[in-house]
Amino acid sequence: MKAAISLKNLPKFTFRKGIHPPEYKSYAEHQAIEVLPTPDTVRIPLLQHLGAPAKVSIEPRAAVKVGDIIAESGGFISTNLHASVSGKTAREGIITLPNGRRVTTIPIKADPEQELEGDALKQAFLGGDWNVNLDEIDASSISKAALQAGIVGMGGAAFPSHVKLMRNDDRPITDLIINGCECEPFLTADHRLMLESPQSILAGALIARHATGATRISICIEDNKPDAIQTMIHAIGDRDIDVKIMRSKYPQGGEKSLVMAALGKAIPTGGLPLDVGVVVLNVGTVASLARMVLRGMPLTHRIVTVTGPGVVHPKNLLVPIGTDFETVLQYCGGLKEEAARIIAGGPMMGFSVTDLSTPVTKGTSGITVLTAKELNAAATTACVRCGLCVDTCPLDLVPTKLAMAARYKHLEVLQRYHVDACMECGCCAYQCPANIPLVQLIRAGKIYNRTHS
Ligand code: SF4
Ligand code: SF4
Repeated sequence: MKAAISLKNLPKFTFRKGIHPPEYKSYAEHQAIEVLPTPDTVRIPLLQHLGAPAKVSIEPRAAVKVGDIIAESGGFISTNLHASVSGKTAREGIITLPNGRRVTTIPIKADPEQELEGDALKQAFLGGDWNVNLDEIDASSISKAALQAGIVGMGGAAFPSHVKLMRNDDRPITDLIINGCECEPFLTADHRLMLESPQSILAGALIARHATGATRISICIEDNKPDAIQTMIHAIGDRDIDVKIMRSKYPQGGEKSLVMAALGKAIPTGGLPLDVGVVVLNVGTVASLARMVLRGMPLTHRIVTVTGPGVVHPKNLLVPIGTDFETVLQYCGGLKEEAARIIAGGPMMGFSVTDLSTPVTKGTSGITVLTAKELNAAATTACVRCGLCVDTCPLDLVPTKLAMAARYKHLEVLQRYHVDACMECGCCAYQCPANIPLVQLIRAGKIYNRTHS
């Protein structure tokens, strides 16, 4: 065992505003990643990324192997989809995702025997040698490999990664930030990945730097994960990669908060990290990139944290994309009697789920089950004009104005106050003493703006 490095005197980075909700990480943070047994059937939604849905490229009743492409990118901001089990495809169906989008799915009935399962799958996914020889990798091929593999942002946003990995000489990239903050309460999938497969993250970071031409890499981890910080520092050794310790605060992992905290660079309203020469990729995303480039494995599975006081045995699971929530929860012992709400993701940015046939998608970082104790059931009252929502918004927006404009459909006000810039982090609603559903209203305002302008 290598000696621990003293973290006490290392600088800690943070951003203005934000909140400190209780972390609740203890439910699953010590649960090593387990492989979910292959389910009988998966249903793979054609839209599980930002942008256009993928286009089906396979007939019903076709035999598929894990990793076969079943739908191809439907536009520049879109990506490929793959079979996550070996088996036979069935006729397409329609489902409603937790965010309310109705999408087509491709069902696959799994064969009783799978080529890669259990420990062998875990080893292929996380273990073994991750040495990378960049001299043998054409930098311009990496973005294409990410598209081929269907890689998206694994932190929840699901933005297609090939777009971020394209080199553009008119817009040079100076910094690559690897996001290991995992600031949502309860979620621990990224934490476990850093502990159990740091070398896959490093390999992916080096590959991403090669693709983007960035000169610096910073791996950013919140200070509530000292074991992950130690593990990553040891794994890096003498490579020129920084580990930056971020103060535990929500939403530290939001791209704008993170770029400001780690580099002191402000992203303009409505802009992207690219506008200030930065690419931000989640730890799970770069590990996926390494799996594709070094092992030819597309994005067919993801690590999902199943957690909260309402689930019998919280776990971190490696799950085939398209597995329904019910199967995942049953493997974790099912729901406790006092379970009151099931959330896809964490409680701050996740969506409530009422139908357990909802499938795990590339963006499903967790399934959180809360009891009435954690839910704020207090009634909504009138705005008391306390200004707490404004004081807490990390993007300096005016949530109370946005919510009001959304309620009364004032398009001009929505635009004047930059409704589209809201990242739906939920800080404003968390602070509001009147329990006004600010995020739901602002989300509706964003949709109204999109459809009426
Ligand atoms: S307005 Fe949007 S970005 Fe600002 S705190 Fe509320 S949800 Fe977060
Ligand atoms: S926090 Fe709630 S009560 Fe206070 S100003 Fe904002 S909307 Fe009004």
